[in-house]
Amino acid sequence: MAAAKLRHRMGRFLEIAPALGPWPRIYSTSPAFADVLRLPQKQLTKVVYPLRELEQYLVADSRAGLIERKLFDPSFEDIGRAESIFAATARNRIEYLSSAVRLDHAPSLQQPEVCFIGRSNVGKSSLIKALFSLAPDVEVRISKKPGHTKKMNFFKVGKHFTLVDMPGYGYRAPEDFVDMVEAYLKERNNLKRTFLLVDSAVGITNLDNIAIEMCEEFALPYVMILTKIDKSSKGYLLKQVLQIQKFVNTQTQGCFPQLFPISAITYSGVHLLKCFIADITGSLK
Ligand code: GDP
Repeated sequence: MAAAKLRHRMGRFLEIAPALGPWPRIYSTSPAFADVLRLPQKQLTKVVYPLRELEQYLVADSRAGLIERKLFDPSFEDIGRAESIFAATARNRIEYLSSAVRLDHAPSLQQPEVCFIGRSNVGKSSLIKALFSLAPDVEVRISKKPGHTKKMNFFKVGKHFTLVDMPGYGYRAPEDFVDMVEAYLKERNNLKRTFLLVDSAVGITNLDNIAIEMCEEFALPYVMILTKIDKSSKGYLLKQVLQIQKFVNTQTQGCFPQLFPISAITYSGVHLLKCFIADITGSLK
């Protein structure tokens, strides 16, 4: 079982970690993650694998088919390597490239691309800022007012991939939003994965359903991220996760069967998400 295997692996790592001191391969590229690895076990699990606490309930509900396939289960070493991909250096430039209001204004790029979509105020800018926390020169605007992101914003992550921040949909979204997003999702040839953000405190809304239907209609591989998990009690979060996991299992075809719960405030789940992005863009090779 993936959970048991990982617990075992983590337990062993924690036994040897103090003896090793900072893990040289990881420390040399990402001191921030080396600090995370020094957290007490419970906190470490919560920050790196936020789903772990809830997993026993998902597995316990396996008769309902909640967890059928193997989960994304990277080693700490892979998570550390992914951290270095998201860390800006002279040789690994992470920078804002350009913005576009229409697909034909989008930069023409060969490298793999991932995009982030979600309704306004779901926490998209905060998450992208958290993903780029080791690239302090990258400016990601965080809105005070819902609906300010009206363009597709392209960010280059070294030679590895491009990350695209799509305009938030919903309240005061630009009129041509659907046209813009739809054209991008349908036609962007180098798009490897779409990350669809859902507010864990709110659940899947009608607006989210429109985006889900779009991904399904275009047969896109997409991943559901549950934002703001720090806002809810463990019990409420579990209820939401179970409900959304059931939805993913029964109502979707293209959605990755593992949810990614995250908090941009506590950074819970952010390292795991970085590793997943690095993995699916082929950056860990
Ligand atoms: P966007 O419109 O989707 O880009 O959303 P923002 O990133 O601007 O966030 C909308 C609001 O939610 C802001 O007030 C953020 O401070 C808040 N927020 C974003 N992420 C989190 C989170 O992980 N936890 C909590 N508690 N609040 C968050």
